Amino acid sequence: MSAQHEHEHKHDHDHDHDHEHEHEHEHDRAEQAVRRASRLIALAQVRQYGDPVLRMRANEVETFDEELDRLSERMIALMHDAEGVGLAATQVGVLRRLFVFNDEGEDRVVVNPVLAKASRETEVDEEGCLSLGPVRMPVERPVEVTLDGVDQHGKAVHLELEGLSARVVQHELDHLDGRLIVDRTDPESRREAMAQLRPRLILSR
Ligand SMILES: [Zn+2]
Repeated sequence: MSAQHEHEHKHDHDHDHDHEHEHEHEHDRAEQAVRRASRLIALAQVRQYGDPVLRMRANEVETFDEELDRLSERMIALMHDAEGVGLAATQVGVLRRLFVFNDEGEDRVVVNPVLAKASRETEVDEEGCLSLGPVRMPVERPVEVTLDGVDQHGKAVHLELEGLSARVVQHELDHLDGRLIVDRTDPESRREAMAQLRPRLILSR
């Protein structure tokens, strides 16, 4: 899932034309440029809408080896570089039931995740996705969930989550079943999103 501060980036961009504080902000701007470049490099490694792999169901992980450990590390790094809050293995073209997410500042790896419990209370909030570019749409989800699974070493994971973390794990779990937010949003938002996504499909050919 993408982070919720897309708009701030657009804002920063406007200030590029503002020469008033050029010297004080030269260092900041260089840092921002490096961050933006890292973000684009990371995003280039994330499968984008239209890629059939995003529609496939990932398989249970059975082997907990060094390779799985390396995959988890790579996905955490990609998630941070892409400025996302969650990333599923299918998004990097790996059909294994595994995702990473940032749980209020802490990186977590969840392998073979199962939604054990979901509250009846739901909430609608805007979601973005690292596989859908800047397109965002409202998605209704339970506000509290219990997630069971294991970590990259096979150690049991039991998470009781609410708020953004609850939303993120549901979004990532959907990825492992080939489901995207365009399937979860209301019909009108879906039409709007598709109108934005279709030209991207043509451009990416
Ligand atoms: Zn996503």
